[in-house]
Amino acid sequence: MDCLFCKIIARQIPADIVYEDDKVLAFNDISPQAPVHILIVPKKHIDKVSNLKESDKDIVCELIFTAKKLAQEKGIAESGYRLVLNNNRDAGQAVLHIHLHLLGGRKMGWPPG
Ligand code: 5GP
Ligand code: ZN
Repeated sequence: MDCLFCKIIARQIPADIVYEDDKVLAFNDISPQAPVHILIVPKKHIDKVSNLKESDKDIVCELIFTAKKLAQEKGIAESGYRLVLNNNRDAGQAVLHIHLHLLGGRKMGWPPG
């Protein structure tokens, strides 16, 4: 499949991997927007939130709990962090394989751009 994140999961493209289990992979964003900027992706290819199925509920849970765990490991759990899940064009989703952004280590603005 011609999907960037599937290729990272298959180790066909290198990435700075910070966590892996049977369901998810997490790696540093190539263009970090904060001191901590990690992408957490399901190993199963799902293109976007709009196409999630009922049977994907567990995977979505995994993404969030992995983010929580990594935030603790990276020392940003107390200071705070932002989880971003862009869906489709207007949100700026560039890679059509669901990915949860974990951003932290600096004060965030609101509303987002
Ligand atoms: P989106 O805009 O789709 O929510 O986020 C895509 C993210 O993937 C961007 O933050 C971008 O910097 C990151 N990205 C794009 N290509 C690569 C890559 O080859 N490796 C890594 N580690 N991150 C990438
Ligand atoms: Zn994929």
